[in-house]
Amino acid sequence: MSILPIYTFDQPVLRKETKQITEDTDSLQHLVDDMFATMRNANGIGLAANQIGKSLALTVIDLSDFEEYKHFEPLVLINPVITDTHGESVFEEGCLSLPGIREEVVRPDAIGIKFLDRYMREVEIEADKLLARVIQHEVDHLHGKYFIDYLSAFKMSLLKGKLNKMKKGEMEADYPLAPPSDHKGKKGPVAF
Ligand code: ZN
Repeated sequence: MSILPIYTFDQPVLRKETKQITEDTDSLQHLVDDMFATMRNANGIGLAANQIGKSLALTVIDLSDFEEYKHFEPLVLINPVITDTHGESVFEEGCLSLPGIREEVVRPDAIGIKFLDRYMREVEIEADKLLARVIQHEVDHLHGKYFIDYLSAFKMSLLKGKLNKMKKGEMEADYPLAPPSDHKGKKGPVAF
């Protein structure tokens, strides 16, 4: 298992729609294990594949450190789709791709979700509270969205300095980050 560097705001892979996964392979199984290792090393409770630079519709979640979720089996969600939403709640979110930023976000409080597990078996569950919150945050990543996209223009203006620094790779985290040079993408052919 490897701990992989985490991609941060606003690297292109985090703004792109991720690709659906169609088959179970050894490399998928390795990727899932590496994602759990990377997430736990960073003390995260959820991680999307594009946060480690892989544009795939895959996310892992582990809430078992929380008392109310201590019997919770870590989840692997492949090609997740939110089918239903109920209610509304406010919660302060953070993101491994936005180190040092935490803001309150309003989201539905309960959801229905269908996905494939790590062995490509179909699963359909209902989730509420923290689990619903984390799933929605991760599914957003798979669609190229950050939690800060929900903030008001005023709140965004207050974060502008931090975000600009982040774009240049000027931030600190106690887990490995992908350097900015890593996420500029390949240079295209020279044009005249
Ligand atoms: Zn995140």
